[in-house]
Amino acid sequence: MTDCIFCKIANKEIPSNIVYEDDRFLAFLDIAPANKGHVLVIPKEHHEVYIDLPDEVLKELSLVTKKVCLAMSKSLKNCGYNIFMNNKETAGQIVPHAHFHIIPRFNDDGIKFSYEHKTYSDGEAEQFKEKISKEI
Ligand code: 5GP
Ligand code: ZN
Repeated sequence: MTDCIFCKIANKEIPSNIVYEDDRFLAFLDIAPANKGHVLVIPKEHHEVYIDLPDEVLKELSLVTKKVCLAMSKSLKNCGYNIFMNNKETAGQIVPHAHFHIIPRFNDDGIKFSYEHKTYSDGEAEQFKEKISKEI
């Protein structure tokens, strides 16, 4: 996509700090990291969200993500790491080109991924279970 910032990064129209690249995938440092070493992993092909990714692209993307996690763990003192993807604006997606975040984690690094837990009313969990499971 011509106006997509991650397509531009994939095409080298915008510079980035690349940690891994092959002909179809790219992993580079997030410009505004949650923690130093925060990496974004993308397919070079433009797809907006997780469920748009063709199975075969998703499989490869997952393997590249693992490769980066392994390198992160080896290079950054056996750190922990969070892997996630924001999908759609409602979930906090800012760049609409599907990407995994990998954030290295250390003791007392001050990062919080927290939310208030909600509760189901009587029968509500079953309704959600039905709605979702019947589409699978
Ligand atoms: P999202 O909220 O879409 O999951 O995350 C987008 C991420 O892309 C953000 O963490 C943001 O810092 C990063 N980002 C946005 N623009 C650029 C850029 O031009 N270069 C790099 N390396 N990262 C970017
Ligand atoms: Zn794109």
